[in-house]
Amino acid sequence: FFMTIEGGEGAGKTTILQGIADWLEARGWDVVVTREPGGIPIAEKIREVILDRVHTDMDARTEALLYAAARRQHLVQKVEPALAAGAAVLCDRFVDSSLAYQGHARGLGIEEVWAINRFATVERLPDLTLYLDVRPEIGLARVRSDHGREINRLDLEDLTFHRKVREGYLLLTRRFSDRIVTINAEQPPEQVLAQALQETEKRFKG
Ligand code: C5P
Ligand code: MG
Repeated sequence: FFMTIEGGEGAGKTTILQGIADWLEARGWDVVVTREPGGIPIAEKIREVILDRVHTDMDARTEALLYAAARRQHLVQKVEPALAAGAAVLCDRFVDSSLAYQGHARGLGIEEVWAINRFATVERLPDLTLYLDVRPEIGLARVRSDHGREINRLDLEDLTFHRKVREGYLLLTRRFSDRIVTINAEQPPEQVLAQALQETEKRFKG
């Protein structure tokens, strides 16, 4: 079972993912929690290159290719083996992030970015994707009030960029409505988690 969680900055993906992992483990599942870009050493190094605040001159296509490269390595080295062993793999971000951020918000085009990601993933898609929807004003305010959190290059993008990211995600939820479920992440975290668990349970039954 391959599940991914998506959303803009400050949507609370990491917290919710941990809550789902605990819930699945309590039901006897072997759970692998991981993230993109990253999750394994090669991809974590690529992540550092992408997110480094000094790399303000990074070209959008370069960025999209680096995400796809990190995704490829993470998929073959960690996700596929875990799925083959029968684990539930929960991944913080996956291909929808690239479609929303690089495809829509950066303006490369969802189709163009899907083309390189089809090459990278050989069309492995999640069984379920939870999209945590939050208006960027709210999400960015959360990020900024979390002083323990490192500010990366993308956090410094303006509100217009983050609004386009959200617009991109909303396009994807319509296009992949069989796979992506939207949850209002402006609700208190307990409510977001309760809905996330409901959706997870539904997929496991059906
Ligand atoms: O999920 P997390 O917040 O750790 O992601 C790290 C950063 O990478 C975020 O600021 C996000 O905006 C950015 N990102 C991106 N394009 C992707 C995936 C992540 O710009 N495809
Ligand atoms: Mg996070």
